[in-house]
Amino acid sequence: MGVLLFTGGTVVTPDGSFGADVLIEDEKIVAIGAEISADGVETVDASGKFIMPGFVDAHTHMDMPFGGTVTADDWETGTAAAVAGGTTTIVDFALQDEGGTLAEAVEAWTEKARNKALTDYGFHVAITDLRDDTKAELSSLADKGVASVKIFMTYKGTPLYTKDDDLFEALQLSKEASVLVLVHAENGDVIQKLIEQALVRGDTAPRFHALTRPPEVEAEATGRAIRLAQVAGAPILVVHVSCAPALEEIHRAHERGQMVYAETCPQYFAFSYQDLAREGFEGAKYVCSPPLRDESNREPLWNGLKVGDLQIFGSDHCSFNYKAQKELGIDDFSKIPNGLPGVEERAMALWTLGVREGKISENQFVALLSTNQTRIYGMYPRKGALVPGADADIVLWDPEISITATVENRHGNVDYTPYEGMTFKGGPASVYMRGTLIYKDGEIMGEHGSGRFIKRSFVPPSMKSALV
Ligand SMILES: [Zn+2]
Repeated sequence: MGVLLFTGGTVVTPDGSFGADVLIEDEKIVAIGAEISADGVETVDASGKFIMPGFVDAHTHMDMPFGGTVTADDWETGTAAAVAGGTTTIVDFALQDEGGTLAEAVEAWTEKARNKALTDYGFHVAITDLRDDTKAELSSLADKGVASVKIFMTYKGTPLYTKDDDLFEALQLSKEASVLVLVHAENGDVIQKLIEQALVRGDTAPRFHALTRPPEVEAEATGRAIRLAQVAGAPILVVHVSCAPALEEIHRAHERGQMVYAETCPQYFAFSYQDLAREGFEGAKYVCSPPLRDESNREPLWNGLKVGDLQIFGSDHCSFNYKAQKELGIDDFSKIPNGLPGVEERAMALWTLGVREGKISENQFVALLSTNQTRIYGMYPRKGALVPGADADIVLWDPEISITATVENRHGNVDYTPYEGMTFKGGPASVYMRGTLIYKDGEIMGEHGSGRFIKRSFVPPSMKSALV
């Protein structure tokens, strides 16, 4: 640490790009402007690079139990992968145990992160057991710096599944508690029925994961959740929007002025149903929920990002090994653990497929990966902004870097990468977290345990200011 001056780079914010020097002292940004001079500074040559606020990924699942197993990445390997992708803050899902409290979930996740996290971090609490004492506990979350909870409308037959009455009450209570409700919107009852019918027919291959979760069940649940939020008078955030019909529900809500935030993820742009339908059991590598869709959904999703119906691009990083984990479902697709790695590839995929292809601007890129995340999730302007006083979380983005993904050059702990052989053009050259260089040219330099818990507080940004 100390005093660093970034010179010759192009500063990128959601509002515009401009040539400027950036001066940081210890953990904070102190000045941005033309030709800054200061005594005793170490100069960092940023010419040819974009200077961006550290990326924020508010959708990760590190060291999380699911379907009788635990995600392949813990906080050590998962945050290493994050850093290699330019991410300096994650918000992870702390799961309430059945019979457990929300506070215990936060404590358990604090332990998982301790001595391991390379990035700063926060938690959402995933509510799995909405008892009376859990409802009473909701109001204490804001004091703990936990500004969001998650409700699952799917995974029927597991503790995650939540019925409408509980979802509705959570929305009502969250509004009073200044907490944002995130929803995984897929119709769990209908999916369960379709899965049972498929298995009776003997349809057990990975592709039936998608065929038993058609876009309409996502759209229906999305519309239902949004309408319940409308009745409760509460804002809501729909995570991992995968398809045009679900996006239409969000667009309609925006047309009537409802406060609905929404996220989409790299896998819905980089892959499609064809990957799930690969030979043999290969498709298991691409099982996530909502499932990968037909390519016809891509253009509408790009448009959603462009016009601001989708404000957030999160990874939903939820990694399972192919061997022994994905293989749990070799005879039954419904037993394949759901999730893909993506925390490392998120920004590079968005740049390669989005900015380079002219779908979105570099300014929208920064908004989707950083600024909108911190506004909506309650960390702005400490995070997500290049302004004096903000944490000196900085990505020097090199549009000329070319990286072809292989399982060997990934920084996480998964035995495959769904991105195998895909070439990304544009990536982080170096990454600073609170003034410390934590990544450079493919190498992690940060110290495990240096990441800190970031207290968040939810103040709903107006739809206009959250728009890209
Ligand atoms: Zn998720």
